[in-house]
Amino acid sequence: MTQPVVLTSANSKVSVQVGAGSPVFIAGPCSVESYEQLALTAQTLKELGVDVLRGGTFKARTLHTSFQGLGKKALAILRDVAREYDMIAVSEITSEFDVELYNNHVDVFQIGARNAQNYRLLAEVGQTKKPVILKRGMGETLEELVASVAYLYTAQEREEGCNPRVILCERGIRTFEHAARATLDVCAVPVLKALSDCPVLVDPSHAAGQRNLVSPLASAGIAAGADGLIVEVHPNPPHALSDAAQQLDLEDFTLLHRTVGRIHQALVSEF
Ligand code: PEP
Ligand code: MN
Repeated sequence: MTQPVVLTSANSKVSVQVGAGSPVFIAGPCSVESYEQLALTAQTLKELGVDVLRGGTFKARTLHTSFQGLGKKALAILRDVAREYDMIAVSEITSEFDVELYNNHVDVFQIGARNAQNYRLLAEVGQTKKPVILKRGMGETLEELVASVAYLYTAQEREEGCNPRVILCERGIRTFEHAARATLDVCAVPVLKALSDCPVLVDPSHAAGQRNLVSPLASAGIAAGADGLIVEVHPNPPHALSDAAQQLDLEDFTLLHRTVGRIHQALVSEF
């Protein structure tokens, strides 16, 4: 049985339950680029009732010549915008040396596909006892993903069984198929739900790699029973400094939000 995970903003004004029945949206740009960029995104999200804001800070990029994120400056912007709009701040941590820094700026840690099995990082993040979104590695089995969850709890939590605070996320895996950036494993959703008590999210953006595929994959994830979505949203995607091809503009995200809401309604309504 899925144990809901509670996410709370730093000012405690907003709290969201992931895994309690209604799909939770986590949205925001691939990278935090400026205060204005993030504030504009946050304003639209808030109007839609989306309370959880994502934003990349120290980015894990394949090419060292690619934009690496604004780092500490991005964390400060994320914290300030989340405060201003009463939102819950999420960002991916890429090094165990940054745990204290992130702990001072985010409400929820994200561990990305590239670090999914970096167990030292998982254990250090776990010491903060904050909620964590753990993404599936690009070549990781579902059993391996579920096995990693224990690293995110402290020894005391493992012994005494404290509040659930780990959320899993399917974001596409590597297969021979290259039509999309990755292959979204929709099957992961029911399988993870059977193998663990953690809520399960789907990230359609990194699986798709291109805008036109994001909404269909989001719909598939929710139809398969996902507890929510992580979607990349940017006020001006073609000019984004990272993942420009897959980020949705505010209008397209609004449409996705509506479509997914209807799919969820169809799933829960009585026939
Ligand atoms: C991200 O969400 O910003 C990201 C890099 O995703 P992933 O770790 O799934 O590639
Ligand atoms: Mn991205």
